Amino acid sequence: MSGVPLFDRVALIGIGLIGSSVARVMRRDGLAGTIVACARTEATLETVRELGLADDISTDPAAAARDADLVMICTPVSTYAAIADRIAPALKSGAIVTDVGSVKAAILDDVLSRLPPDVHFVPGHPIAGTEMSGPEAGFETLFEDRWFLITPQPGCDPAAVERVAEFWRRAGSQIDVLDPEHHDQVLAITSHLPHLIAYTIVGTANDLEDHIKSEVIKYSASGFRDFTRIAGSDPIMWRDVFLANREAVLEMLGRLWEDLAILQRAIRVGDGETLEAFFRRTREIRRGVIEAGQHVPPAPPDQDQQ
Ligand code: NAP
Repeated sequence: MSGVPLFDRVALIGIGLIGSSVARVMRRDGLAGTIVACARTEATLETVRELGLADDISTDPAAAARDADLVMICTPVSTYAAIADRIAPALKSGAIVTDVGSVKAAILDDVLSRLPPDVHFVPGHPIAGTEMSGPEAGFETLFEDRWFLITPQPGCDPAAVERVAEFWRRAGSQIDVLDPEHHDQVLAITSHLPHLIAYTIVGTANDLEDHIKSEVIKYSASGFRDFTRIAGSDPIMWRDVFLANREAVLEMLGRLWEDLAILQRAIRVGDGETLEAFFRRTREIRRGVIEAGQHVPPAPPDQDQQ
């Protein structure tokens, strides 16, 4: 479907899994007059050129952001402050700057305090992703039937919020508006802690003695395989998420320890009743996820969704 562009000129600062999926949606539906892609390395930009994802490319965020109506920051969250410093002098009056970062409270100051007052910042986060990285990993259906969370700061321009929301609706997402701290607490338990657990289990398995380790890979379909998928996620992105959302993750980790101790004791003393009651409760949660249509991870059309 092609239509009238929502934005004349769009700068994507960072064009990996998320940025390239945004570019694909914009290309498919004609939502941007011109797309300029910015990455750190020439190699990534060469791939972007080969894939035809952008009209122009640059390793310089300021050059990419110049004259853009929409600047979308799609890089790991630790880069935000430096990128905001770079783009600030190049932004035109009335430009909208938005982002897709997985942590919202910590990034607000990093960006907002550095942008000129006549530029609108609309922070956001697509609740969609895979464990893959880079421009080849993106696909245009990534955001379909997923949530896009907007975490506006006080004074955030409603018209700018609406323009950003409209793009995400066209990408197939539903929009919700959340307070940034609340967002970070919810995501700490739904996304950040599961990744920490997966990284831990896979790391623990890797430290086992060699004769056990070889069997772990061989028989991984028994549950371990699902953890390895999550633990294969980008190390830089996840390093940044844990450092930027430290307090909420530590709070949820504390609660997890308490529950683990309950299960540990139940196993030690042979308390099947406690174990069964706990597992029945969690099975209900799984049913709720299925009913909400959030159980299948998004995958490119030609990818096996095991
Ligand atoms: P990615 O595939 O690793 O891509 C990151 C991109 O950022 C690359 O193009 C990289 O360029 C570029 N980049 C890194 N540092 C830069 C800098 N200083 N200046 C300019 N470009 C820079 O990452 P992603 O998975 O798309 O994640 C991007 C953001 O989306 C993160 O903030 C993450 O929290 C958020 N997010 C991710 C997911 C997910 O499932 N992956 C889901 C929702 C939100 P090079 O390739 O040249 O290094």
